Amino acid sequence: MSGCGIRALRYALESHADWVWANDGNPDVGEVLQHNLAQLALPSHTGTLSSTRYQITHQEANRLLLGCYYRQDFYDLVDLDCFGSPAPYLSASLGAVAIGGLLYLTSTDGRTATGHAPQNCLSDYGAYVRVHPAGHEQGLRLLIGHVQQLAATNGFGVEPIFSFFKGQIYRGMVRLVARSCLTPQNYGYLGYCHHCGNYRAIAWRELGRAVCPHDAQPMVVTGPIWLGQLHDVEYLQACIALAEAWNWKSQARLMRLMQTETDLPPYFYLLGEIGRRGQIDIPKRASLTQILQDWGYRVSSTHIHPDAIKTDANLQTCVRAAKSISA
Ligand SMILES: [Zn+2]
Repeated sequence: MSGCGIRALRYALESHADWVWANDGNPDVGEVLQHNLAQLALPSHTGTLSSTRYQITHQEANRLLLGCYYRQDFYDLVDLDCFGSPAPYLSASLGAVAIGGLLYLTSTDGRTATGHAPQNCLSDYGAYVRVHPAGHEQGLRLLIGHVQQLAATNGFGVEPIFSFFKGQIYRGMVRLVARSCLTPQNYGYLGYCHHCGNYRAIAWRELGRAVCPHDAQPMVVTGPIWLGQLHDVEYLQACIALAEAWNWKSQARLMRLMQTETDLPPYFYLLGEIGRRGQIDIPKRASLTQILQDWGYRVSSTHIHPDAIKTDANLQTCVRAAKSISA
């Protein structure tokens, strides 16, 4: 869905892409798309003529992407910006990316990602995800996990560069590499205890023993999903340096937050949930973070939810810390 072509234009003008192919399945947008990309008719930064810098088509996405694979016409970046679930296009998208190139994923199917349409999830991702407070992080992990597994079927892998959730949009930028990255540790299950609010990652071999470490209650199990890192810290560092050089303050702040959340457990606790379970007011994030850190736990905010923390402390420890603030 190139739409009016704004992103295609930005790839060319701001990111200095050598060449951009803008495809939108709807031919009705063709005139607008053509009008906007006509700006690329100026000489490009490399001095080549812009008439060679872009192409517009209105093909069905899979036909286009599989055509690239068939002709061995591989791209440094494929931006799959679709509406709803990207599942029907993921396999073909991987086939159009060069080794070492990037695939930029999109999903706007929040119902499926957050466990409200488990039957859809099974059809789209071969996974069964459930409802719990960290549902939006699950949406990112569902998407990356599925692409990782699809890549592995051909002996390839993907490395997450960054993952981003905002509003109702899930985006994941991954790099295609010529080796499988799928392991039983980074692709598995997440358990949630409705009884006490704790989470834990559950390995494939532990599926028969999916009980809560706090109260031994059976956990609701979601997955398989990606349990590895959502971002590449070094890549983010390079982006932060650029953002700072350009004085893009909010982007730099966002990416620094992504860095701190990277290697924390694959879920978060809502501050409201901590307050509710402790029967106290909703704790202030900064105070709660300070106390947990003083107690030796690792804590970060998360870009996925403004009123949540990621930590290796369990929920009961968070409640105790929150109570000690009011005390
Ligand atoms: Zn429990």
